[in-house]
Amino acid sequence: MHITLNLSSGAFAGEIKDISGANVFDCYQCGKCAAGCTVGGYIDDTPTKVIRFIQLNQRDKALDSRTPFLCAACNTCSERCPMEIDVAKIMESVRILALKEKRKPERDVAVFSELFLGSVKTTGRLFELGLTAGFNLMSGQPVKDAELGARLFRKGKIAIKPAMSGNKNVKQIFDKSEAVSGSSSKEEKAEH
Ligand code: SF4
Ligand code: SF4
Repeated sequence: MHITLNLSSGAFAGEIKDISGANVFDCYQCGKCAAGCTVGGYIDDTPTKVIRFIQLNQRDKALDSRTPFLCAACNTCSERCPMEIDVAKIMESVRILALKEKRKPERDVAVFSELFLGSVKTTGRLFELGLTAGFNLMSGQPVKDAELGARLFRKGKIAIKPAMSGNKNVKQIFDKSEAVSGSSSKEEKAEH
């Protein structure tokens, strides 16, 4: 990894703190958040690395990373952090800023992120079959993994209907997050 050190300001860390309340300079790069990341097999930069980008004011590297868009907001990293840093909230903050600046992750990443969060928001938990079918259709590969899906279905590993747990806490998280995004958008419009 090549990092260009910019010690001139911690401005980006300040932006992240304003949204998430988290101080990235508390992080000593132990890597525990990365080791337990649920989507570790799919991301390009580990959460530890994204935090390092922020510490070093590497704005473009953080905002153009796929990781915040693939983050499942599972909170495992936040729970594991020995410094009690809310890493999941930091990922969300990076995503908010990236969207505010209309930075586009690769199309498939954007589609996956939208479907995943939509499923969790609507039902209170992930509906795997809906996510897979929707993603395959929207990414132009409708029969991708069909055989694997059929096998999992026969073994009872995937449900054919969403659970609709109606988790109030999940809804509150989305409401809060959308309120932050909304106020960011309003500020942006006011500036123009
Ligand atoms: S677990 Fe906490 S201290 Fe360790 S790298 Fe992640 S954010 Fe930093
Ligand atoms: S909240 Fe995101 S970054 Fe943290 S462990 Fe879960 S998927 Fe990984």
